[in-house]
Amino acid sequence: MDLNSLYSEIITEHNLSNHNKHHIAGADIVEKGHNPSCGDEIELELKIKDGIIEDAGYTGVGCAISQASTSIMIDLLRGKPIEEAKQVIETFLGMIKREITDEDQLDILEEALALKNISNMPARVKCAVLAWHTLDEALKKKVS
Ligand SMILES: [Zn+2]
Repeated sequence: MDLNSLYSEIITEHNLSNHNKHHIAGADIVEKGHNPSCGDEIELELKIKDGIIEDAGYTGVGCAISQASTSIMIDLLRGKPIEEAKQVIETFLGMIKREITDEDQLDILEEALALKNISNMPARVKCAVLAWHTLDEALKKKVS
């Protein structure tokens, strides 16, 4: 299987699987994200304990890219310290903006690397980054 079919398989799988699509009981943070250019809407719910993202989930509607990107992000960041999560968010946004191209640096993105080619599709970039910007906002509020 070539890398591109592997990538599209990861996106399809996350889009079909609803394993991260649920409310989080006793969530500490609920943050809404909206991408008007496509109509994507998500609501992230996070449970933070001792500076660690203990659990996360989301609800919402939107295109396959926005939903898959949210689910991939949650899988990747669940259980991570906030500081590490911020690093991952920054790297992901850097990858999409093509500001970070170093493969060693991108390694921490794991499955989120599947979204790398979105940077070639300007119309879909906002769909891909929606969840990550939303989480970034949520974490800023939590820390400040
Ligand atoms: Zn979209």
